[in-house]
Amino acid sequence: MPTYQRLPISFKKGEGVWLYTKNGDKYLDALSGIAVNTLGYSHSKFVKAISQQIKNLIHVSNLYNIEEQCLLGKELAFLSELSASFFCNSGCEANELAIKIARLHGHDLKIQQPEIIVMDNAFHGRTMATLSASGSRKVQAGFEPLMSGFVRVPFDNIDAIQEIASKKNKISAVFVEPIQGEGGVNIPQNFESYLKSLRGICDKNNWLLIFDEVQCGVGRTGTWFAYQNSTIKPDVVTLAKGLASGVPIGACIANEKASNLISPGKHGSTFGGNPLAMVAGLKTLEIMKEESLLDNALSQGQLIVSLLKKEFEHNDKIISIRHMGLMIGIELRNSCGALVELAMNNKLLINVTSDKTIRLLPPLILNNDEAQLVARKLVKTINEFLKKT
Ligand code: PLP
Repeated sequence: MPTYQRLPISFKKGEGVWLYTKNGDKYLDALSGIAVNTLGYSHSKFVKAISQQIKNLIHVSNLYNIEEQCLLGKELAFLSELSASFFCNSGCEANELAIKIARLHGHDLKIQQPEIIVMDNAFHGRTMATLSASGSRKVQAGFEPLMSGFVRVPFDNIDAIQEIASKKNKISAVFVEPIQGEGGVNIPQNFESYLKSLRGICDKNNWLLIFDEVQCGVGRTGTWFAYQNSTIKPDVVTLAKGLASGVPIGACIANEKASNLISPGKHGSTFGGNPLAMVAGLKTLEIMKEESLLDNALSQGQLIVSLLKKEFEHNDKIISIRHMGLMIGIELRNSCGALVELAMNNKLLINVTSDKTIRLLPPLILNNDEAQLVARKLVKTINEFLKKT
């Protein structure tokens, strides 16, 4: 179906942070399949582990115990300091369960029609529930009637939530990306204070706090979970994209209070949690530890941003350069979609989101030289673009 506006290029092979066309042209990938290829391409240990798993067992039903699923569940419980996981195949699926849990919690509170607080400019996926929760008309238009049960507030605005808390008694959860990805790499002005206030309001009102870390999770911000850049924990967090380095996966992770709302028959997935995806997840996390990729995300993110700031600090066509680890947004004064093809001409893969924000989400294995090259290629591209406009 004509779902995508594709760029006129295709790739045959990947190695490290590089993608290769059929003709052998080499592109520096600063997007990693939109935050998916955590370990870059063809990581030898990763390829070996999943190849072995393919030989042993790709899929077995959740009718049976799946040892690899228990192992990944335990590892995620350890890293998140929450207690249990449900595995599925994508971000929107993980969010579907988070929304179902919020509703179960609401009914537990004896609310007949529970509602969830969601944010302007949020993106949670393309299923009916997740597009209804998303804060973008572009995503929703044409799909009405939308799913009801969402109350929208501006992102990074605690007063708006306080106001709802003072009036409404139908809320059961707050659902938010700690850093908005598709919405323009929006980082709360005071990350710690915003997350802490959200936790406080949720505790006071007995609402669940649910974080969508499908894009910002799995080490990208220099911690396993973005919320670990603060001192609080959510009740539920969702992951997908980078968790298995390219093998489809999603995870909804919850504390005891939230996971106890689920019982056999309430949710499920045919493919979710199969041995191949679980080994891909386990191996991704193992290699991330072995290669200190959290620290690397911090230092390479810092390096790229400092080089960009040096070049553009006093340029009034650049509104802001913001980042946490290797989640980087460069907001321009004007629309800049055309930059993507200009960058491609310079053999650099980037993306523009929310019309005016260049987004970089490179693989977490990016080394110093490659980080400098990303910055150099991007500076050249932005300067070419600014000269033309
Ligand atoms: N949530 C966030 C924050 C995302 O960035 C995305 C995808 O971009 C999704 C959910 C949806 O994930 P998927 O495309 O795997 O369904």
